[in-house]
Amino acid sequence: MNTGGAQGVLVVTGGSRGIGEAVSRLAADRGYQVVMNFRSDRARAELVAADIGSRGGSVHSVQGDVSSEADVVALFEIAAGLGEIAGLVNNAGILEQQMDLVDMTPERFDRVFAVNVRGSFLCAREAIRRMARSRGGGGGAIVNVSSAAARIGSPHEYIDYAASKGAIDTLTLGLSKEVAVEGIRVNAVRPGIIETEIHASGGDPGRIERIAPMVPMQRAGTADEVAQTILWLLSGEASYLTGALVDASGGR
Ligand code: NAP
Repeated sequence: MNTGGAQGVLVVTGGSRGIGEAVSRLAADRGYQVVMNFRSDRARAELVAADIGSRGGSVHSVQGDVSSEADVVALFEIAAGLGEIAGLVNNAGILEQQMDLVDMTPERFDRVFAVNVRGSFLCAREAIRRMARSRGGGGGAIVNVSSAAARIGSPHEYIDYAASKGAIDTLTLGLSKEVAVEGIRVNAVRPGIIETEIHASGGDPGRIERIAPMVPMQRAGTADEVAQTILWLLSGEASYLTGALVDASGGR
């Protein structure tokens, strides 16, 4: 069902591919006015936006690096100009080449934390400034995209990435308590191994085939399966959930 943006404005970071793309598509189908952020691949973002638009969905693609305060402020100014912000999906995230911690540089650590933690923190701040009832907003919902890595730790792959997702879990727990009184729910989804291009950025495009047999459900998940969980957490069906860390990981 598409209700032409009647559900309010939803900001989705990193919405041009993978899980963010699936969220953008499903949210438009469910009647959100989607503000789809991306960092660099404009052609891809425009392709996704055009496709959503051709199916009657409402979507605006906005370039910006979530680790930049100026970019995040600009993103939310654009979003607020479209209508009342109802939600945020803090999805943009990166990982780097697989390696042991003993070989990691501080620059790499800073890059991963800048996008995954600082970016989520900045976007949450801007969303709350507009959704909080005490500031004239109408309340809303935030879903942070964490990872099963937060509890597994990702040894020999990317402990820095896993630790950044641990920080997202803690952000979710603290912020949910801080803004509950403002009518804002804050939850996290922790995907397991999901079929997207992120694994290639770790230098291991065959990671899914290698790990899938070890998942209790014996397969990777799809971006759409994670998107369904995120849309549920955003919706009124999850009205009494806040501070929840929801595993979408096939039992892993
Ligand atoms: P993906 O396919 O690599 O897509 C990442 C998206 O984030 C792209 O749209 C990218 O835009 C955007 N992005 C990257 N850095 C950004 C920045 N600094 N500012 C704004 N946008 C940025 O990743 P994915 O697998 O869908 O992952 C999405 C989220 O799920 C991440 O937080 C990831 O950690 C988490 N997750 C994924 C898995 C999995 O197995 N796939 C498992 C657990 C958790 P450009 O292409 O324009 O750069």
